[in-house]
Amino acid sequence: MNIRNVRILGGEPADIRIADGVIAEIGPRLDGREGIDGEGAIALPGLVDLHTHLREPGREDAETVQTGTQSAARGGYTAVHAMANTSPVADTAGVVEQVWRLGREFAHCDVHPVGAVTVGLEGRQLAELGAMADSAARVRVFSDDGKCVDDAVLMRRALEYVKAFDGVVAQHAQEPRLTSGAQMNEGVISGRLGLTGWPAVAEEAIIARDCLLAAHVGSRLHVCHVSTAGSVEILRWAKSKGWNVTAEVTPHHLLLTDDLVEESPVGAYNPIYKVNPPLRTRADVEALRAALADGTIDIVATDHAPHPVEDKETEWSAAAMGMVGLETALSVVQEAMVETGLLDWAGVAQRMSVVPARIGRLAGQGQTLEVGAPANITLYDPSARTKVDPAAFASKSRNTPYEGMTLPGRVVATFLRGRPTVLEGKLV
Ligand SMILES: [Zn+2]
Repeated sequence: MNIRNVRILGGEPADIRIADGVIAEIGPRLDGREGIDGEGAIALPGLVDLHTHLREPGREDAETVQTGTQSAARGGYTAVHAMANTSPVADTAGVVEQVWRLGREFAHCDVHPVGAVTVGLEGRQLAELGAMADSAARVRVFSDDGKCVDDAVLMRRALEYVKAFDGVVAQHAQEPRLTSGAQMNEGVISGRLGLTGWPAVAEEAIIARDCLLAAHVGSRLHVCHVSTAGSVEILRWAKSKGWNVTAEVTPHHLLLTDDLVEESPVGAYNPIYKVNPPLRTRADVEALRAALADGTIDIVATDHAPHPVEDKETEWSAAAMGMVGLETALSVVQEAMVETGLLDWAGVAQRMSVVPARIGRLAGQGQTLEVGAPANITLYDPSARTKVDPAAFASKSRNTPYEGMTLPGRVVATFLRGRPTVLEGKLV
C-alpha cells in the first residue's frame, strides 16, 4: 500500500510505500495503484504517550482499554502507557498482564502497562517491581501517579531496584502535607476566591529531592507533569550535572492558566479546570514552553484522565481532578509551540514520539520515518481548524477544557504497523 503526497516532518511532498508493516520505500512518486491520498498532510512517527489513564480494570464507566485506545488513535497515537491507579491497582505481575492482554485483544494502539511503585499506591511497601518487569507485560515504567512516593527511603529503594532491568521511576511530585486540602494554584487568585492554595514549592521540593536521590544511586528518574517555573529551574540544574533525569509537560499546562478558575467562557469555579497538578500562572506557562523548546523538559505527555459527568459536574471542592487529552494533544501543542515559532514539526516528533518511546524503552515505536522502520505513522493536517466537540470524542468521557474552542490542526490518519486505525479522521 502507498500513502501518496505527504510531507514527512513538514518537508517536501513524497510517497511512502508500506509492505509487511514496515516502510518499504520513500520517494517522490512511487509506482503502484493501491493507495491513500495524503493530500499534503504532514507525516509524523506515530505518537507515543508516556502518561495515559485507561481506567480499566475498575472504572469502566469512565474509560476502557478499547475506548481509551480509540481515543488515542484519533489523536494520532500508536502507543500509550497505561497508568497503574486502577482498581485493583496494577501492582502485581497478574494485574499488569491483565491490562497487557486487554491491550492485545481490544486496543487500537499498543498498550504498555505502568507498574505501581508501592503496594496499593499506599506508599508503605515496595510493589513487586521485578516480577512486573519479568512478566509478559515487560514493565519498564513504574509510577504511583495520582499519588506521590513521598517517603524518601522508599523512593530511594525503588530507584535502586529498577536499575537491574533498566527501568525508570516516574514521580508524581506532590508533597502531601503541603497540599493537604489544596484546590487550585496558590497565588493571587486562590486568595481572592478563598480556595485552599496548592503551592509551587510542593512540587519543586519533591523534584529537587528526587533528582538528588537519582544522582546518589545512579538511577533513572522521570518527572510527571511539570507545572511550575521553579521546577524548570531545578530540572535545568539537574541536567547540567549530567544526571539521568527526564521530564514531561501536559498540553493543558502549556496553554491554560489559573485565572480560568475565576473567569472563563464556562463561568467561574467550573471544575472542568480542576486538575492535578493545578493550572498555574502565565509566567509558569511561558517557562514551560521555553523549557520544552530548549529540551529542559523532554516530552509532552497527555495525563489523559477521563471522568464520568457525575464526578466532574459538581461543586468545585467535590469534583474529581483531571482532563481528557488524547484527542486534542497535537492541536494544543501546535497552538502553544508551533504557531508561536518555538518548535518545528521535527521538534514535535521528537517530543511526542521519539523521546517518549526511548524513556519507556519501547523498541518498535518512536522511530524516524525511514525505510525499514515499522510503519507507525500519523498524518496531520495543520491547516485545518477544528471546533472541539466533546460529543464527537471516541473517549467514554467528555471532561475537556477546550469545549467550543477552535484549535488548529486535525489528525487525518493513523497507521499502526501499516494497518490504518484512523482514516479521514474516523476510526477504522
Ligand atoms: Zn499525576
